[in-house]
Amino acid sequence: MKGKQEADASTFHSASAPDYIPAPLLRDLQLKRLRSIVRLAYERVELFRQRLEERRIVPDDIRRLEDIASLPFTVKTDLRDTYPFGLFACPLEEIVRLHASSGTTGKPIVVAYTKEDVDVWTNVMVRTLASCGLGPGDVIQNSYGYGLFTGGLGAHYGAEGLGATVIPMSGGNTDRQIMVMRDFRVTAICSTPSYFLHLIERASELGIDMHELPVRAGVFGAEPWTDSMRRHIEAHSGIKAYDLYGLSEIVGPGVACECCRQDGLHFFEDHFYPEIIDPATGATMPDGEEGELVLTTLSKRAMPMIRYRTRDITAFITSPCSCGRTLRRMRRVSRRSDDMFIIRGINVFPSQVESALLQVEGTLPHYQIILTREKGLDEMEVQIEVTPEIFSDKIGALEQFEAQLMDSLERVLGIRVAVRLVEPHSIQRSEGKAKRIIDKRNA
Ligand SMILES: [Zn+2]
Repeated sequence: MKGKQEADASTFHSASAPDYIPAPLLRDLQLKRLRSIVRLAYERVELFRQRLEERRIVPDDIRRLEDIASLPFTVKTDLRDTYPFGLFACPLEEIVRLHASSGTTGKPIVVAYTKEDVDVWTNVMVRTLASCGLGPGDVIQNSYGYGLFTGGLGAHYGAEGLGATVIPMSGGNTDRQIMVMRDFRVTAICSTPSYFLHLIERASELGIDMHELPVRAGVFGAEPWTDSMRRHIEAHSGIKAYDLYGLSEIVGPGVACECCRQDGLHFFEDHFYPEIIDPATGATMPDGEEGELVLTTLSKRAMPMIRYRTRDITAFITSPCSCGRTLRRMRRVSRRSDDMFIIRGINVFPSQVESALLQVEGTLPHYQIILTREKGLDEMEVQIEVTPEIFSDKIGALEQFEAQLMDSLERVLGIRVAVRLVEPHSIQRSEGKAKRIIDKRNA
């Protein structure tokens, strides 16, 4: 990278070059883009202008990057309340793509892209796949769902932009996925981690050992997963499993991704400005402390998002990464405040349950949390699949194993909950995002 110090960011040509941009240049670029996007949103988005006026702020008040903290947050309900097109900053003639995500309740949220926005999205996905060690010559099976969900097309454009060979599989049809993976000599796969687990398992039933296939990398996202899950996936398939982060409200997949070090996710900071806040007060957290991730799109024209509250809990990693990228990193997101549930007054995240279970030898990473209410009291039962060896053990041994899992859960959660061991394959497999919680408390 010698001699690039003097260059302006726009003179970098190779797609991954912005990953190595010197920090002062990056800050200049971010400030320039932030000022421009705040002005665009102020001039074109009614809701944003009203909120700035209430605070007596004008776009020119943004003089330094830190001034972003004076801007109002955007939350998911803002997208619902302005359904479908209320947050667009462009006339429909300039919009080339719409995506939508179905919420669990009420109206979906709609997101829009101009031609330039699609190019930026492709660019960050190219950099994502490159940071996972992929390039031309790779055969990438894209098992993210195609359609209104951003996962499929996001990964597709990125893989094509990278110059790799893309197989647009979409989700589902598991046996055919495995046949294609073997016959087309697939070297990398994009999917949710839980769907890939399902593929590993089904392949083994079909007598195919993933270790023998050419597949060597998985780019997994769209649901929170833990390091224990990563270790399980890697041990049972022989691939390297990378964590990809994104959300439709910001761009889709491609906001941040792990590099070869698999030690935190680099933000594509030239396009997305990350902050970590205290979810209770909204105040900026000291660097390195855990809080809620807030993102601002720095270049999105169709639908700029200013200080969008993701509900994802993470922290910045303050040390530089040994891969040489200058982009800031965050710890992997294994918790979403949306997934949290409260049981007997204790806050519980599914990821805590996952890591407690997978610490015990003999468990399989298929589990479900069942919440019920009996006589006004909340009850939690964790159903977990165990290996056939454990399951065929004597009753006494099973009870002992159950108690071991209950202890492990109690250490992590601080409460004692019920555990039920179930046979392999008894928990329903998902072809997209795994359903971890069944809440029957208000049924
Ligand atoms: Zn790195």
